[in-house]
Amino acid sequence: MAAKRTRSHVLVAAVVSLLIAGAWPTVADADHSWSDFHWTRGANPFTVIVGDNLNSPWTDYLATAVSDWSQHPEVLEISLEKGQTASPECVPVEGTVQACHGEYGRNGWLGLASVWNINGHIAQGILQMNDTYFNEPAYNTPEWRNLVVCQELAHTFGLGHQDETQGNPNLGSCMDYSSNPAGPPSNEHPNQHDWDQLMQIYEHLDPALITMATPGAMERIELSELTVDLEQLRFPEAGGVAEVPSLGAGDVELSTFLILADEDILARGAATPEATPSA
Ligand SMILES: [Zn+2]
Ligand SMILES: [Zn+2]
Repeated sequence: MAAKRTRSHVLVAAVVSLLIAGAWPTVADADHSWSDFHWTRGANPFTVIVGDNLNSPWTDYLATAVSDWSQHPEVLEISLEKGQTASPECVPVEGTVQACHGEYGRNGWLGLASVWNINGHIAQGILQMNDTYFNEPAYNTPEWRNLVVCQELAHTFGLGHQDETQGNPNLGSCMDYSSNPAGPPSNEHPNQHDWDQLMQIYEHLDPALITMATPGAMERIELSELTVDLEQLRFPEAGGVAEVPSLGAGDVELSTFLILADEDILARGAATPEATPSA
């Protein structure tokens, strides 16, 4: 098989404009760079609200992912609630993560996680699953659905990837790129390393920032009006990184992770090489 793209999962980051009138500190804490953005909280553990805007079968996969990421309540608690937006639009809701799906087209991505953060602190997030690909036999499997929901949900907590090479052996984590999520080992769920990472990210508290997040300040931010421009999230050029055109300047950063659909896997159909008995 020809050499494959190894970075099938790319990062897109955009800085979007906001008029917040100095409501937030303008100098980002060095410890809070975009790559370890996290939810602001005054105590641990804390609860992330996840809104379910899904239909069957996605709603079951979301429940599985929420259960997976609730295994260490001393770090993170998740409240799975009725969705506050709708699929496929997925308008973000401040202070929550909203999960959506839809036939977003053959635009290259299987799953998408977007996080709006203010000086590295997450204000809201969304995850979206692209049914255009999940309706195809190659991706319409429990293993692919589990991996994508598990990974995109975790991005909205501020978790990154363990490994970004698609063809190497699985690490047993949904935060590991894979061309065969079933494994073994399976890449459908978190592993201990993910928890170690989360514990590291959430070691410190943000009581000062909690105090600053007055309702008035948050209203002026109008985060819900800032939406991901899906038209900009098509297959990136070689190099794996696409830039969304800047919408202006401000203190809010919109960061988006994509899992790209792989044309080789699509062409393969439902059977993976590991699952196909040799004749
Ligand atoms: Zn912090
Ligand atoms: Zn990812």
